[in-house]
Amino acid sequence: MAHVVTAPCIGCKYTDCVVVCPMECFYGDEKQLYIDPDDCIDCGACAPECPVNAIYLDRDVPTRWAEYVQLNADRVKMLKPLPEAHITEKV
Ligand code: SF4
Ligand code: SF4
Repeated sequence: MAHVVTAPCIGCKYTDCVVVCPMECFYGDEKQLYIDPDDCIDCGACAPECPVNAIYLDRDVPTRWAEYVQLNADRVKMLKPLPEAHITEKV
């Protein structure tokens, strides 16, 4: 299991979520952030920090955003080789 970033994140530039993650799980593109499902330890620290409630435990992702579970895994795979895509500090 892992936490997942969903649609409300699109366009957010606050990244309050990133600074509390002990595993540095977050990757970003021009659209939004994504969580690496392999590194996430489900500590839950990030979800309450997100002002727009974009982060859910994978099994709790609302049905309308179900595809975001796979999308986070797929996008992280693409972004991981790019150092600038690893978001570890508030921007
Ligand atoms: S705080 Fe929420 S909306 Fe903003 S970058 Fe983090 S997950 Fe996305
Ligand atoms: S649940 Fe914990 S480990 Fe997973 S992304 Fe959020 S803060 Fe990081």
